[in-house]
Amino acid sequence: MTIDLADPPTGARSGPLFGVPGSRERIDTPALVLDLDAVELNLAAMAEIARAAGVALRPHAKTHKSTALAKRQIAAGAIGICCATLDEAEVMVAAGLPGVLITSPLVTAGKIARLMDLLDRTDDVMVVADDAGNVAALDAAAGARGKTLGVLVDLDLGQRRTGVAGVAEGIRLAREIASWKALRFRGVQAYAGHLQHVATRAEREALARAAQARVAALVAELRAEGLAPAIVTGVGTGTHAIDSEGPFTELQVGSYVVMDAEYGAVEHAPGASWPFRPALFVAVAVTSANAPGQVTTDGGTKAFALNGPLPTVVAGPLAGAAYAFAGDEHGRLVLPAGVAPPPLGTVIECTVPHCDPTVALHDAYHCVRGDRLVDVWPIDARGRRV
Ligand code: PLP
Ligand code: MN
Repeated sequence: MTIDLADPPTGARSGPLFGVPGSRERIDTPALVLDLDAVELNLAAMAEIARAAGVALRPHAKTHKSTALAKRQIAAGAIGICCATLDEAEVMVAAGLPGVLITSPLVTAGKIARLMDLLDRTDDVMVVADDAGNVAALDAAAGARGKTLGVLVDLDLGQRRTGVAGVAEGIRLAREIASWKALRFRGVQAYAGHLQHVATRAEREALARAAQARVAALVAELRAEGLAPAIVTGVGTGTHAIDSEGPFTELQVGSYVVMDAEYGAVEHAPGASWPFRPALFVAVAVTSANAPGQVTTDGGTKAFALNGPLPTVVAGPLAGAAYAFAGDEHGRLVLPAGVAPPPLGTVIECTVPHCDPTVALHDAYHCVRGDRLVDVWPIDARGRRV
């Protein structure tokens, strides 16, 4: 299947708002706003970092859940796309995206059957595993379809979420995978999610180097066993600069493409290794202004995911003002001293506490360039396929 990078188009929409100067302030709210200039900068920057370090990119679609953004990552040189869920993977494969790696184990009979349906559509899909019983079930299912499934050993780096506990367990599972007829051992996944937001760079670097040593030890032993891993994948946005020098053959970074306030609060080395700009905002509108010293907006806990620093206002007379949640559909802005309440209907853009779960609350990206709305992209890998 060929990928049509012009689908959906950028800036080619017609309608009363599209392309009109000032239309960014007239987007209906609450809405996710995506700054395409910043996205393009982030895409190019990570592509260049990977190129310069000699590692491949297989960015994580869990962040954006969008085939439009995945296609742009491939166009920028990525070799494939990571997915956290089977639902995401099904959408990515249907859109023709190559090199889909599912980064969570799939263990139920229902999901394994759907994975086989996916394998019927493309041989180019892989999954991670951390359990010998799961590996046997994957082999049985793939064998019954006459297919071969690529499987990676998931190695826990201390997060205690998924992954085998250590090198010995990793070797054992790799041997299991390699022994099954319908499976192909592809390599190792080692993702240190607990290290990505360690606030100080020195501490993050020390922890990431220790994690790299565990990955390197497993890779060395696999080689010694004649099971050299073709793929060594892992790495988030927070450690990309450190880990691009490590044992990884590819980076599965996600947040870099849109960024968020959580990453904004993390200390980075200045300069080329941290060129990313916030590209994602939530636009809300002032809906009530009767209580003195504050206004109410239409963005509450259904517009923002809460697990990150509270939103702040990005620009305008209220720039920097802190946002407080006032219910499922409401937010509150305390007006700085001497600032008059903006008129009802005023659209205010706020920072995003945590990008991935915020994106999952919305149906579409409202794509902007400068002060213009130029496109709307569906968040098409959102939700459950039924
Ligand atoms: N890989 C896995 C397995 C993840 O769970 C995540 C994010 O949670 C990522 C990669 C991407 O990390 P980040 O968004 O920090 O770049
Ligand atoms: Mn995240």
